[in-house]
Amino acid sequence: MTNTKTSLPVIIIGANISGLMLAQVLKKKGIPFAIYEKEPCLAKPAMGSSITLHQSWASIDKVFSDVHDLSAFIKHALAIQEDPYDMGMSIIDGNANTTLAEICLPKVDQDLAFESFLTEFPLQRAFRLNRYRLREALLRDIPVHWGHSYVASQDLEDFVQVTFANDVEVRGSVLVGADGALSSVCNDLLQGKLQDITDHHPGLFLVSTQWLSPEAYKAFRQVWIISRYCADATHQLSPSSNQDRRRLANSWADASLTGPLHSLVVDTPTDSPVFKINLPQRIPPAEALYQQKRRTVIGDAAHPMVPSRGAGGNQGVMDAVLLGDLIEKAYEGAMTMEQAVHSYLDDMVPRGKAMVQGSHQTNLENYESIDYAVQAIRRIQQLMNA
Ligand SMILES: Cc1cc2nc3c(=O)[nH]c(=O)nc-3n(C[C@H](O)[C@H](O)[C@H](O)COP(=O)(O)OP(=O)(O)OC[C@H]3O[C@@H](n4cnc5c(N)ncnc54)[C@H](O)[C@@H]3O)c2cc1C
Repeated sequence: MTNTKTSLPVIIIGANISGLMLAQVLKKKGIPFAIYEKEPCLAKPAMGSSITLHQSWASIDKVFSDVHDLSAFIKHALAIQEDPYDMGMSIIDGNANTTLAEICLPKVDQDLAFESFLTEFPLQRAFRLNRYRLREALLRDIPVHWGHSYVASQDLEDFVQVTFANDVEVRGSVLVGADGALSSVCNDLLQGKLQDITDHHPGLFLVSTQWLSPEAYKAFRQVWIISRYCADATHQLSPSSNQDRRRLANSWADASLTGPLHSLVVDTPTDSPVFKINLPQRIPPAEALYQQKRRTVIGDAAHPMVPSRGAGGNQGVMDAVLLGDLIEKAYEGAMTMEQAVHSYLDDMVPRGKAMVQGSHQTNLENYESIDYAVQAIRRIQQLMNA
């Protein structure tokens, strides 16, 4: 075994959930790292949006020294800050304005401290977090090199060399691409073939934000997504101007929603941007990844998936924590960096593949009949109550 002990840092590309979680793991272990992000700074997103973390709490636990730290992290990031137990997830019949199924955490004794809930109900943890505040919480004590857009890398046997668009060049012990679904790092490892193996979800998702007064907000304890399945002509149908996207969203709302849900869409101020969300999906490219010694990918860079199971972010967190543990072993000299990277792939590749395929399947079932989604939500609620 070659001695892999090195003082070079782990190079992380992308400072969102997966990359920042890896940075937190490495910081805790005292392993040198440098994290690079193409955006110039942490900017407030145009839209407030949230993410549910559920299956990754066992991994997240490892990042925090104790339950107080964990509790402070969750409280900072919560989407609904006044009620940590409110998952804010329901399936609503938009025509009848009735709730068909919803997920809520088991009713806990109001006097039970949040820390005690975290300790006593480890399997029931599922929290809806605000994406911006989650990123803020993960940025704690992590110095990010903002404004550095990755363009290329080389594995030079003993180290990796990385080049950015601003001509900065750095060396590291290993390169971890956490740069999202359209990952430039993954594209390099695939020798430019990323688009060939990336599929796009055949639906048109439109999303916008209407900021509500606290009074108006009371009616909306549920989160909704408006979308249409359009298998044959997703891109042709995609409206190119904001006005056209707005018109389309309104026509869908007119066709399928009534009452306050209908108002929520159609009363959105006309100057609010309406975005189309792209949903790429890709099975981890095992062959290309196993050819690498000091370069790999985590999170959406490894396995973008449609959000029907709310699993993409959770999987990214699990990747980051596992890879951080294995990199530690390489830094201790217990294994080579190549062995660490390959051990990570042994877990991530089958897990990522199952999640991409499972999310795709769930998505098709949801479009086929609302009953699938309703049954799934009810099953999750039963598990929560068990
Ligand atoms: C509508 C919707 C709902 C979802 N809901 C959930 C949910 O409830 N639960 C869940 O677990 N998942 C959910 N997901 C999936 C989840 O959002 C993603 O899996 C997660 O955000 C991926 O995080 P990431 O850090 O791997 O990648 P990203 O969030 O894409 O971050 C990549 C980072 O890399 C940076 N970057 C990109 N290129 C470069 C470059 N060349 N150089 C430097 N930096 C670069 C980007 O600017 C960005 O900061 C949802 C997704 C959607 C679309």
